[in-house]
Amino acid sequence: MRFDLLTIFPEFFTGPFDFGIVKRARQQGIVEINIHDLRSFTFDKHHVVDDRPFGGGDGMVLKPEPIFRAVESLLAADQPVDDQQADQKRAAIVLLSPQGRMFNQAEAERLANECSQMILICGRYEGVDERVVEHLVTDEISIGDYVLTGGEIPAMVVVDAVTRLLPGALGSETSAAHDSFSALARGLLDHPHYTRPAEFRGWRAPDVLISGHHGEVAKWRRRAALLKTLKMRPDLLEKADLTDAERLSLSEDQQRSA
Ligand code: SAH
Repeated sequence: MRFDLLTIFPEFFTGPFDFGIVKRARQQGIVEINIHDLRSFTFDKHHVVDDRPFGGGDGMVLKPEPIFRAVESLLAADQPVDDQQADQKRAAIVLLSPQGRMFNQAEAERLANECSQMILICGRYEGVDERVVEHLVTDEISIGDYVLTGGEIPAMVVVDAVTRLLPGALGSETSAAHDSFSALARGLLDHPHYTRPAEFRGWRAPDVLISGHHGEVAKWRRRAALLKTLKMRPDLLEKADLTDAERLSLSEDQQRSA
């Protein structure tokens, strides 16, 4: 996967991609992450990337020309012709925007599967000229119903979430298998985790986990995931893939807590 990030603040990205799983994925060539200064796609003396909004009002709007120019040059850039897999996958042209489709684990999985390149456009000020959305962008993505000052942090979120899903990115010390929202968790949150010491300040980790009995551990984890989801995210339960027995015990739990 090749990520190209377009920003007026390239220095924003010194650091976030230099640690842990993302750093290793870069070193292993699983991902390539390039940061581009939008100003370098301007031709005027002052490298102007923004202008006042038509119709008046406060704030500035990012101009369309530098963004179109940047994206078009990045799309054309050194596509490997012999890489058949890359050919079958698409390039996503993403605008980070609070008006976009809500980003979640399923969207991250879709992008990780479909794309060989993601160009991420980071907005600033009042946002970008709407013609960018209408005629250039393939995916308008929001990371939540709140407004940030720029698209840089949302872009980091998307790059991070997609990278850890790419084959080989997670080492043996981490596993995406039972992550919250993953297919294997069947619509539930992840189960709680405990590690040594078995007793900490008088609080014992569940004995069943310490026992190491695989069948019992699996049962406990599934049940604990169910209870945690019931407590924190009951909205997920409606769509979760539960067995009849699980539905039954759940409604008993719900009645008990009511
Ligand atoms: N006037 C816009 C907000 C602009 S915020 C509106 O009300 O819709 C400036 C930039 O920050 C946006 O262009 C976008 O790139 C980024 N941004 C802010 N909040 C975001 C969010 N929740 N998800 C993704 N990007 C966001």
